[in-house]
Amino acid sequence: MKKICILGATGSIGANCLDVVASQPSEFEVRYLTTYQNVALLLQQAEQFRPQAVAVVHRAKVEQYLPQFRSMGIEVLTGFEGLLEISAREDVDILVNALVGAIGLLPTLNAIQNGCRIALANKETLVLGGQLVMAHAAQSGAEIVPIDSEHSALLQCMVGEQASEVERIILTASGGPFREKPQDQFSGITVAEALNHPNWDMGQKITIDSATLMNKGLEVIEAHWLFDLPLSRIDVVIHPQSVIHSLVEFTDGSMKAQLGLPDMRVPIQYALTYPRRLPATRPRLNFDTLRELTFEPADLDKFRCLQLCYEALEEGGAAPAVLNASNEEAVSLFLKEKIRFDQIPVIVEDALINCETNSFHGVDELIEYDRQAREYVTSKYDF
Ligand code: NAD
Ligand code: MG
Repeated sequence: MKKICILGATGSIGANCLDVVASQPSEFEVRYLTTYQNVALLLQQAEQFRPQAVAVVHRAKVEQYLPQFRSMGIEVLTGFEGLLEISAREDVDILVNALVGAIGLLPTLNAIQNGCRIALANKETLVLGGQLVMAHAAQSGAEIVPIDSEHSALLQCMVGEQASEVERIILTASGGPFREKPQDQFSGITVAEALNHPNWDMGQKITIDSATLMNKGLEVIEAHWLFDLPLSRIDVVIHPQSVIHSLVEFTDGSMKAQLGLPDMRVPIQYALTYPRRLPATRPRLNFDTLRELTFEPADLDKFRCLQLCYEALEEGGAAPAVLNASNEEAVSLFLKEKIRFDQIPVIVEDALINCETNSFHGVDELIEYDRQAREYVTSKYDF
């Protein structure tokens, strides 16, 4: 039985992960679960999976539930320190990082020190600190196995291949809800429209990122670190059906693609069992009803966030950290209806131009760049 810790258990990825765990009861044992503030759901999960301990980051939310956790003999940690303490526990084989945002970096580094497998959904961790994370993982021997469907697809295509024979990787993108919307209508896009993703049911932040195509840009940076490839060998293609989850082209011109229905439980299970596969009884692709797979180039003028990600990756240093932090703040302001949808790339570009993006030495400096970019955005745009 593999012992699992799930950071961000109450989110979209966290809940899907627990679905996978429940469907494979002889394989996995849940040791630790965490949430930011959804303690009611965490309690239900704890009743079903009986972890040793849980962490609730938002302290004020946990008080009323303490007796119920205690009656089950479950330890309750609180605050960001509680999350950090849980991520450092050594009796874990796989840590699933399903947190959203740069907040996921320190817990990932903690878990890496233990040498356990990191099943990583939290792409912001690699956007912000890919260099540190990959270096620490190489040192401790911790495996970083992606949950993100594109990166899982790429990993699956690379199994059995030589890294030196990979010519380029191609990430597919659905194009989001505004693929066909004229750019001059972007200023009127509402939060509800932006949260209505055509193919995937996900947390709010990544859903907005998918609508701006920032998500694809973050994934390009994520792929750069995971597969050690320069930007010149990473491409993006719009594929509205989300059936091909990504492709690898090899030096002989041959390509491999990974296909499936858009269901995150497939890449989550693969990240937990890699390099094995376990049987599962989920709906499958059906070629009797599947009519067409279409492709088109990404429009970098209309979806400027993607272009900004390319530029930040090329610039290096703390530029991806500033890009990520300013985007997190801009998305949060858009969700609160304090800025328009079309201001998101404007704010990110503003931060990239006006914040320090020098190279950094160590995690403390990196977190300081992240903090400064957030402060820049909130002091200028949050009224
Ligand atoms: P979500 O918002 O549904 O869940 C986020 C989880 O993190 C929740 O459990 C929440 O309680 C916790 N959390 C949020 N803020 C926190 C904080 N400040 N401190 C501690 N915990 C906090 O998000 P999600 O859609 O599950 O996405 C999680 C990560 O996975 C993101 O990085 C996203 O980009 C990535 N991802 C998600 C999907 C998907 O289908 N949802 C697909 C690919 C990648
Ligand atoms: Mg993805």
